[in-house]
Amino acid sequence: MLRLLLLLFVCVGFCAAQGTTYVVLWFDTEDYVDPIADDAALRIANDLTRLGVHATFKVVGEKARVLEARHRRDVIEALGRHSIGYHSDWHSIQPVPALDLEHLGWLEGAAEFQRRQEGGFRDISRIFGITPVCYGQPGSSWAPQSNLALRRMGIHVYLDEGSQVGLNGQPFWYDGLLYVFNMGPYQMRADLGGKTPFAETAREFDAAVRHFAGTGGGLISTYYHPTEFVHTEFWDAVNFSNGATRKRSQWVLPHRRTPEEAERCYRILTEYVQHAKSAPGVQFVTANDLLHIYASPMPPTIDRATLARHFQNGITFLSTPSGDLSAADILLQLLGMPPDYVDGPTFRGATTYNQPQIPELLFEGTVEDVKSFIKTNHRLPSQIFVGSQTLSLGDFAATVAGHLLSAGPVRVARAKLLFEQYFSNDAKGAFDWPIHPIGFAPAELLELGRLQGWTLKPARLR
Ligand SMILES: [Zn+2]
Repeated sequence: MLRLLLLLFVCVGFCAAQGTTYVVLWFDTEDYVDPIADDAALRIANDLTRLGVHATFKVVGEKARVLEARHRRDVIEALGRHSIGYHSDWHSIQPVPALDLEHLGWLEGAAEFQRRQEGGFRDISRIFGITPVCYGQPGSSWAPQSNLALRRMGIHVYLDEGSQVGLNGQPFWYDGLLYVFNMGPYQMRADLGGKTPFAETAREFDAAVRHFAGTGGGLISTYYHPTEFVHTEFWDAVNFSNGATRKRSQWVLPHRRTPEEAERCYRILTEYVQHAKSAPGVQFVTANDLLHIYASPMPPTIDRATLARHFQNGITFLSTPSGDLSAADILLQLLGMPPDYVDGPTFRGATTYNQPQIPELLFEGTVEDVKSFIKTNHRLPSQIFVGSQTLSLGDFAATVAGHLLSAGPVRVARAKLLFEQYFSNDAKGAFDWPIHPIGFAPAELLELGRLQGWTLKPARLR
């Protein structure tokens, strides 16, 4: 009996240590040019339903409208049995989001994104009878201002791929959204083009499952476009390359695969899904499920001296056994404010204050002013006034941390913004997309993205 109990005990301990591998399978459903792509979406949605797998279809506004105009209730209903996301209103029609928002600030850009994208969002809600649960940019046309607009539209998950921001190949919280992005080795797909043999992908998949089993679990992101299953080239590249505009009457169809070739592609997807399903500890999740399998971004309350010491080593998020804190979460706790989600600053403020110390009374007033700004705007200030001079937000945070740790005069400290390492510095490479104009390199969007790095922290599985 004792031996049996011991065995049970060991098994429970072992099984608890086995982390789950979650797979989010998503399809950018965007080709509104060739009606054969409607059939591809239908086929994929039905195949997956038969396999008992729920995927996420991120639909373009115009795609939803043409499905309605072509009376494809069958496609709408088949996709509606899965999770529905949003993939912009017109995808590749100019101006695409990054072009539109390149020179706009945080607030103006968010308003512009919402103005241009809300119509498509409403159309999808109406046509599918469901509010889209996630968003992902067309191509690499990412812009940080979209994050604020998406929250205002009621979207809380950013599901896509890109290199502008990333955190160790796993999901993270950024600008108040759950981001599945820049997944590195955990962005996986079985190759439809036949360059990578299926067995190789299967081996990589199994290795990831083994890795996650021993490390408390993780997420694999797999994506396709229904159009890829029936075409050998992209519908938008043949019409809208390098910023081109064309009237609808001039649109050309992308080159189609033969029916046999399309069948081969559907078989590869089925094989991949069946392989994943049969692996131990693997579970398919939708964009909807992500908000349930990841813990709330509410930060734990941590001893302020610990937080201050952390900031002295550099400004970035902190992971503790009880949860994760973004740099913004930490600053709020150092200021003695209640936890709240707040955005990062809107521009890079400079430190003009040129004395090594700040008189205690002056600094107290500064701190009260910062708290009032945050409470009023739900945003961190870009520059902090000390009388008529300023501190940058980073230097202010480092100064607050230093003052908390040592009694005596307030010494001005200089900050290292360590969270900036998670952002790309390659404005050309990060926005490389055949639809963007030649040479497009919106460094301003990356800079605005970095400023929002105050909100960055890992997402943690429940
Ligand atoms: Zn797309």
